[in-house]
Amino acid sequence: MKLYKVGEKSKAICGACRQLRPTTFQGREVPLSSGKGMVPNVLVAVCDHCDDIVSIPHQSVPRIQESVRFTRHPIEARIPRHLIDALVLMCYELGVGASESRQTVLFRFYLQRVSKVKKMVGGLEALSLSEEAQGKADYRFSIKLNDELYKIFLKLEKDTHLNKAEIVKGIIIQMKLDILDSKNKGIRADLKEALLLAA
Ligand SMILES: [Zn+2]
Repeated sequence: MKLYKVGEKSKAICGACRQLRPTTFQGREVPLSSGKGMVPNVLVAVCDHCDDIVSIPHQSVPRIQESVRFTRHPIEARIPRHLIDALVLMCYELGVGASESRQTVLFRFYLQRVSKVKKMVGGLEALSLSEEAQGKADYRFSIKLNDELYKIFLKLEKDTHLNKAEIVKGIIIQMKLDILDSKNKGIRADLKEALLLAA
């Protein structure tokens, strides 16, 4: 695969000039593939004649999409302190340390997992009302989700008719059942791998 460099020359049909033009690769601001916003400094081929962007090389495509994936949607919910303790404890038990980013990765991983299993989605309500979910909700749980996970979260809200705090509580208790109570080896191995990739 050919990698283009800044300043490299090429030739391409310019859409604005409607003819074959010499081009130069330069960093330019380019719209996201979703159309929502711009990505700065993306390597593109620029027409030497009219200065329009003529083409986006293959190597630049992930950056335009990557930025979409990292768009942040904050989710905030007030939950009891012991559920945050459980989240920290699970990271600790998995042997990866419990930095905030690992807690976040663990939660994101589980959000995705729960959403894929019908039985777990159906069980969220009971978990969110269970004895372990009770207690003064005086701790602020805050997480940022990318577009994909945010969509999953919104769908869970819609499908379960639960509010944010109830979903967060249900997911953490489901994790606790799998990781701390049943010591599910398969899920522990998967999680450990995911968590080791987090900073
Ligand atoms: Zn041109």
